[in-house]
Amino acid sequence: MTTAVHQLDDGAWVSVNDSREVNVSNLWRLARHDFCGCRLADFLAEGFVEVAADGADVEARIAGQCIQCGESGVTEWLTLGRVDPETDEFRSVVPESVHVPNRRRRLASPP
Ligand SMILES: [Zn+2]
Repeated sequence: MTTAVHQLDDGAWVSVNDSREVNVSNLWRLARHDFCGCRLADFLAEGFVEVAADGADVEARIAGQCIQCGESGVTEWLTLGRVDPETDEFRSVVPESVHVPNRRRRLASPP
């Protein structure tokens, strides 16, 4: 199964299979992350830096800021959602729930 993902409008949107699905203006809760010193970061997303599909999963690295401590930068890979293989419909994750960034995409080759 091939999923086409692209960033649009300088990283403001992610399109999945040629349909705009995810807008960047969300607050994400990050756990077990290296982004900043907060145990649970409240990360305000400002732009998608890299997007990729791993099978049905859509993942992205997002630039933004932790609104608790003010640290800004780019996250590791976060799952944005997945494409339902039955309907080809994209189902987004809930950004405000807790997410654990992946240091390396699962498909990436080992060093
Ligand atoms: Zn922080």
